[in-house]
Parts: sequence; C-alpha cells; structure tokens
Amino acid sequence: MDLHYSPEDEKFRLEVREWMEQNVPNEVRDSASSRTTVARKFRVKFYQGLREKGWMCPKWPVEYGGPGFSLPQQVIMMEEMGRVGAPNMDLGVIMAAPMIMAYGTPEQKQRYLPPMLEAEEMWCQGYSEPNAGSDLAALATNATIDGDDFVLNGQKIWTSNGHESDWMFLLVRTDSTAKKKQEGISFLLMDMKSPGISIHPIHQITDSSNFSEVFLNNVRVPRRNLLGNLNQGWEIAKRLLTHERVGVYSGDLIRRSLESILQYAKSERITAAGGCATSKVLIDDPSIRQRIAQASMQIDAVCALGYRNTTRMLRGEPPGPESSVIKVFASETYQRVCDLGIELQGPKAQVWADHGFSEFDFNMPKLMIYSRSFSISGGTSEIQRNILAEVVLGMPR
Ligand SMILES: Cc1cc2nc3c(=O)[nH]c(=O)nc-3n(C[C@H](O)[C@H](O)[C@H](O)COP(=O)(O)OP(=O)(O)OC[C@H]3O[C@@H](n4cnc5c(N)ncnc54)[C@H](O)[C@@H]3O)c2cc1C
Repeated sequence: MDLHYSPEDEKFRLEVREWMEQNVPNEVRDSASSRTTVARKFRVKFYQGLREKGWMCPKWPVEYGGPGFSLPQQVIMMEEMGRVGAPNMDLGVIMAAPMIMAYGTPEQKQRYLPPMLEAEEMWCQGYSEPNAGSDLAALATNATIDGDDFVLNGQKIWTSNGHESDWMFLLVRTDSTAKKKQEGISFLLMDMKSPGISIHPIHQITDSSNFSEVFLNNVRVPRRNLLGNLNQGWEIAKRLLTHERVGVYSGDLIRRSLESILQYAKSERITAAGGCATSKVLIDDPSIRQRIAQASMQIDAVCALGYRNTTRMLRGEPPGPESSVIKVFASETYQRVCDLGIELQGPKAQVWADHGFSEFDFNMPKLMIYSRSFSISGGTSEIQRNILAEVVLGMPR
C-alpha cells in the first residue's frame, strides 16, 4: 500500500478542494452536517454544478460520459466531497449505473445512463421489505408476467429518498417454486410514476422523513425493464451490495464531525460543580484531549482501510473482504465520534429545537441519533461480522 499521491494528483486535489469550497451550497452542507436529509432541489443544484465542471459521475468510464478519472482521482473526489460535507452521489449514479453498465442491453444503457449524467432523474433502492432486511432473499414482492409487462404486488420499506425519486431499482420474486429462495429473484427498473404505487414517508426520530414505505398494487412494469436475465436478480444484488458497502463511508466525512467537536472543545468553558463556568475550556482537560486524539487515530485507520481497498483495485482485483471490515469499523467509529460530542455537550445534549443555541449544540444530538443508522443501512454490523467470520475466517456457521 502506497500512501502517497503523485504531484499531478495533489494538484488535482487542490483544484477539487477549491471548487468544492466555492460550489457546495451552504444549505447542502448544513443538511449534510446534521446528516438528516438533503432535499432534492439542493442535491440537483450540486450535481448540475459538477456536470458543468465535467466531474459528474466521477467513477464512470469515459465511454458512458464519465470524466475518466484514474482510481486515485476518484478517491480524491470522494475525500474532498466528504471534507466539505457534500451530499453523496445519487443512488442511480453509484449503484444502479454500474449494474446497468454490466448487465444492461444497449437500449437500457441509452435510456437510463444519460439522464443520470445530466442529473435529470433521481433513483432509489427497493430491496428491503417488512420481513426481508438482513435476510434479503426472503423478499415477497411478487412479479407475475402478463403479456409485455410484469405485474407487481407487495411492499418495500426504508426506501431512502423514495418520495423524491423518479426511478427505483428493485428486487422482486419471479419464481416462487425455485428450490433455493435466492434463485427466484429478478432485478427490475421501475418508473415511480407508474399507477398503483403509493409512497408513505416515514417520520424518523431525527424529526425528518428521508425514507419511505412504498406500496405496490398491480403495478405494471414493462418486460424491457428487466435487468439481466429472469431470475438472475440475486447475482446482480450481491454484486451491487459490494459497491454499497465500499462506497458509503468516508473517513473525511467522519473527520469533519470530529473537527467541529475539536473546535467546540477549544471554545466551550468547563462548568464547575456549582454550575458556574470556569476559566478553563474543555480541551484543557487531558482526558478530553486523549479522547479526541484517539478518535482521530481511529479515523486514520478508517482511511487506511479505504486505501487498502483502493490498492487492491489498482492491482485489478475486485473489492475484497475489506468491504465488510470498512463498513463495520467506519460506521462504529462515526458513532463513537458522535458519542464523544454528546458527552462534551453534557446537559445541553438534550437540546432539540433551536432556541438560540450554537450550531454545534443544535446539530450534535440529531447527528448522534442519526449515526445509529450507519451500522444498520447497507447490512448491519452483525451481518458484516457473520460474513467476516464465515467467508473470510472460514469459521463454522
Ligand atoms: C438510514 C437507512 C437507509 C436505508 N435505505 C434503504 C434503501 O434505500 N433501500 C432499502 O431497500 N433498504 C434501506 N435500508 C434498510 C436496510 O437495508 C435494513 O434496515 C437492513 O438491511 C437491516 O434489515 P432490517 O431493518 O429488516 O433488520 P433485521 O434484518 O430484522 O435485523 C434486526 C436485528 O437482528 C440482527 N440480525 C438479523 N439477522 C441476523 C443474523 N443472521 N445474525 C446476527 N444478527 C442478525 C440484525 O443485525 C439487527 O440487529 C435503510 C436502512 C437505514 C437505517
């Protein structure tokens, strides 16, 4: 693993950093720092800026309209986006597109990829169901063939940005008689405006509603919207999940939160037993300094794990078991960082509405609560540990 970037890459980093500083709208950064929701209009504004610059879809190859970045350049883009708290790329761009490139027909590539590149169509992921989360292959949403269409009935849940999306890539059961439940699943692309779809945003503990329940009642999806072959959905889903686990967590995004904790610790006065503020600030306490330093080292480790994966890919190897290691360690590091912020806040951590409190006091409790979801989305930590135990370490089930 070589941790050094070439001089050209460092020059590129400076250019990206300057652009991000100037072009990531504040509304987006504010939403991103509380990690609650980034409304579509703000995301689209950011994506269109990237498009104008020629940097939209940083991981796409040139043949599909991507900028053709080298792997180190892709990493730099992700690092610099995390550093300013920019929103993630749309799920269509980072998840559906690589699958469409790998399994799609020429017509499907022509239909779906250009609107992603132009930030005209947003996508959501329809995997989870009320009785199929960790055990995804238990999904029950049924698709029967009727003429030129599939007819879908069932329910999806926890659909991020479902209420703001134009398209959903989803898994459906197309053969309920298959010997193994994984064998009867297909991967479809569904227009969210199709008749029979009803979308119910879920109100979250963070006070926002950025995911939904999606009910499907005799929804007709043209057969041409099948990705890959009939009943090949599980293979595509597994391949896509590797992208999801590698792509979601950036050490720089975690560092952004730690940085705000550090600034807080430098300015917030320590309160004495009687409730009076002393002349000392939190950072004067050696145990607090140690906790911040320890968190910083853990974030370095998150970055190093990411670099190890990048090195594998530079050698032409697919993302390895590191995907699960990164997912567990990064999400839990993020939670530890947020817990530290809450501890430093003390009683102020109970603040929920903005009654003249500082931005930090206002954001941190919501961020801490939202951070609990990081070890659930994209496969829970328990499931990642199962994968590591069984697949990587070869331990018995
Ligand atoms: C912020 C967020 C965004 C999401 N976005 C989407 C989205 O856009 N699209 C989508 O389809 N889904 C989405 N999800 C859903 C997510 O994929 C599921 O929540 C996740 O897969 C877990 O499934 P579940 O909630 O049904 O929990 P369950 O599978 O019911 O698990 C409950 C608990 O049991 C544990 N458990 C289950 N099985 C095992 C086992 N074999 N061994 C050990 N422990 C086990 C789990 O770790 C967990 O602690 C999102 C979730 C979150 C939190």
